[in-house]
Amino acid sequence: MNAPLEDSLTPQIRVEDDRTGLSITTLRSALADNLFYIQGKFPGTATKNDYYMALAYTVRDRLLQRWLNTTQTYRKNVKVVCYLSAEFLIGPQLVNNLINLGIYAKIRQAVEESGLSLQELIEQEEEPGLGNGGLGRLAACYLDSLSTLEIPAIGYGIRYEFGIFDQEIRDGWQVEITDKWLQYGNPWEIARPEEYVEVKFGGRSEHYYDEKGNYRVRWIPDRVVKGVPYDTPILGYQVNTANTLRLWKAEAIESFDFQAFNIGDYYGAVDAKIVSENLTKILYPNDEVIQGKELRLQQQYFFVSCALQDMIRLLLSTEVSLETFHQQFAVQLNDTHPAIGVAELMRLLVDEHRIDWDKAWHITQNTFAFTNHTLLPEALEKWPIELFGRLLPRHLEIIYEINQRFLDRVRMKYPRDLGKLSRLSLIDESGERYVRMANLACVGSHAINGVAELHTELLKKTVLKDFYEFFPEKFANVTNGVTPRRWMVLSNPRLTRLITEKIGDRWITHLDDLRKLETLADDASFRQQWRQIKQETKGDLAAYIRKKLDIIVDPKSLFDIQVKRIHEYKRQHLNVLHVITFYNRLKHDRDLDITPRTFIFGGKAAPGYFMAKLIIKLIVSVANIVNNDPDVRDRMKVVFIPDFNVTLGQRIYPAADLSEQISTAGKEASGTGNMKFALNGALTIGTLDGANVEIREEVGAENFFLFGLTTEEVYGLKARGYRPFDYYNQNAELKAVIDLISSGFFSHGDVDLFKPLIDNLLYRDDYMLLADYQSYIDTQEKVSQAYRDRENWTRMSILNVARMGKFSSDRSIREYAQKIWKVEPVPVELLQLCPGGQCLLV
Ligand SMILES: *Cc1c(COP(=O)(O)O)cnc(C)c1O
Repeated sequence: MNAPLEDSLTPQIRVEDDRTGLSITTLRSALADNLFYIQGKFPGTATKNDYYMALAYTVRDRLLQRWLNTTQTYRKNVKVVCYLSAEFLIGPQLVNNLINLGIYAKIRQAVEESGLSLQELIEQEEEPGLGNGGLGRLAACYLDSLSTLEIPAIGYGIRYEFGIFDQEIRDGWQVEITDKWLQYGNPWEIARPEEYVEVKFGGRSEHYYDEKGNYRVRWIPDRVVKGVPYDTPILGYQVNTANTLRLWKAEAIESFDFQAFNIGDYYGAVDAKIVSENLTKILYPNDEVIQGKELRLQQQYFFVSCALQDMIRLLLSTEVSLETFHQQFAVQLNDTHPAIGVAELMRLLVDEHRIDWDKAWHITQNTFAFTNHTLLPEALEKWPIELFGRLLPRHLEIIYEINQRFLDRVRMKYPRDLGKLSRLSLIDESGERYVRMANLACVGSHAINGVAELHTELLKKTVLKDFYEFFPEKFANVTNGVTPRRWMVLSNPRLTRLITEKIGDRWITHLDDLRKLETLADDASFRQQWRQIKQETKGDLAAYIRKKLDIIVDPKSLFDIQVKRIHEYKRQHLNVLHVITFYNRLKHDRDLDITPRTFIFGGKAAPGYFMAKLIIKLIVSVANIVNNDPDVRDRMKVVFIPDFNVTLGQRIYPAADLSEQISTAGKEASGTGNMKFALNGALTIGTLDGANVEIREEVGAENFFLFGLTTEEVYGLKARGYRPFDYYNQNAELKAVIDLISSGFFSHGDVDLFKPLIDNLLYRDDYMLLADYQSYIDTQEKVSQAYRDRENWTRMSILNVARMGKFSSDRSIREYAQKIWKVEPVPVELLQLCPGGQCLLV
């Protein structure tokens, strides 16, 4: 890979030394130095990973100046955004840091003059898979934009020892492999063991009167765990700001060990240590569904308590009153996973810092803001009262108190409306009693937002309707975005260079500048260059597919790609129905003049989600038949690329001609994959769902392949009584496709294998695939026809990119900053320069 851009920013250093210098000689010497002194290796015995580590430390050294000065700047009374998220899917760090530092070309030269391949070293990096999909990736894009916009921010989360599993495909089935991302060390993090905090669990609360006769409550836990922070710098693009991602690891409290040890229970003490450390061992691999496991609630409370205690400590260290907490911090809840923070902040303020309830409630409500991410009922988080009270007895009391005060207000507004009361209550009392985390988040926050216009409107009409009616002023929309640094500059260096040649590089931080490409859509030689780049990028992906899967795909065919978590609502199986329809048409008419296509799929299924795993099995089974059928050779291929993650996304999104965004209308909150594809010049085939609606609005209906029922039509059809079997019966081509699967054609004659999937479609079809089938097939035919007119396709591709400015995460973050957080940029000056440790010497 060539440097995406000329290096432009160089660290402001005064002395050329091994730790910060940027001359090629100094970089080479730093690399050799780190190999020897950090990895402890001679070049002769060093592995590729040793070299990667030496390089990573070389880059990290050049980042520290900015990072430490950023932290220093924030000690001075500035309002800091704290982004609380159970997931941060940040992707590999090396190249991103090279680009943001503006030292890519220099490092490449130094590495290559040392006889190494930069590309090979880049490929050594294990990405931190600390998230499931869209939600975790959004948090990562937001950190990038916060730093680039110079907004003071800290990301708080969990340092899972094992992130999202690695996916392998064996005999067509997904197999999960433990993600040992830390096994060879993580050069990007710095542990701060001295800044640990203690987190309590279990036990009981005790009510008493203090020395002044005030009523007080203290929590007597039966277990205490230590939270140790690990910090990763998040450098902005060509600015001095490097914010911190602070992830917490659970450890045992030593004094607990000793207690057990003193009474002779050495093994008991070690057991307690293991139990404590289990807390942050593993990321729950479920996307969009809650599993209700106790350990998960422990994880959530653990990192939220660590984060809030950390904020209070920061505040008190500056000698500012705790009563100004909400003026010093804006805390964003990324979904309900950190919503327990509402009760925890109340507990810290009232019980531990003796602030009275009303004042504490004012601080709490003005501190928190809540982002809802889903409309799926199975994703609405709730915890059985019994489990909750056993783990967090004091928080349950606080939640009851919040609820009582809130419901008193509800009763005033809606006298005698018991339905309202029971729907708004923080406690679900319809059967077994539960704590409703979304209700807690709504009551405890001053702002509530959805993640796309349609999603926010649907929130107001469905899952949060009663809250919208009660607190309309709290609701806002902030449409998601993606960072153009990672999702264009880093992942698509060819297109980055072409665009920058034509319109300059301002678009990287002001994505609306891409509009300047519009007029170039009419320039035939520009179109030729554009096409050439897509061709080369597809060639790279084809080479990857050949190397990893031994499947040969034609880069000249239309690359039709669907990569995202596997979920019934995302409807990968609707895509499969089209694949088989396409196959049948070719089989029935061997001379059919069809536009050749490569169908590419990727994505992980939750390990316990049987239907999702069966969909993967179906894709791979269809691929095996199609790819080995000489009748369709050269006209279609089907590929399932295993282990879709950020690193793979960086290869895949830029190589797409067609982006599949085909969820049932009203189910996908926003989507961000849709944005990454379109930004890289893919055209979208999609439903009116999530941010697709806004993408279509921006790029123009004529440059977007729309199909399917609208949300209203979906609701209407459900209400009238949806009978999927009728669609099957009345559509010969659909019937042929389903019958072919049922016949065992793709499963060596096994007629039972896909029966659960087929029966589900014929008799339930909650996601209405059969209702959307014909519209989807017809629109796919339009896609095929459109692709034949290469000049016009290229025109549409250029216009898509030119009009994607809105979907930069910079725009999203500016909206949060203005509408919700009320924060301003705080540029960082590099005041404390410390080249070569000289500040120690002064
Ligand atoms: C962007 C991204 C997602 C989200 O994709 P959607 O299509 O919006 O569901 C999931 N996983 C990874 C690795 C991503 O980069």
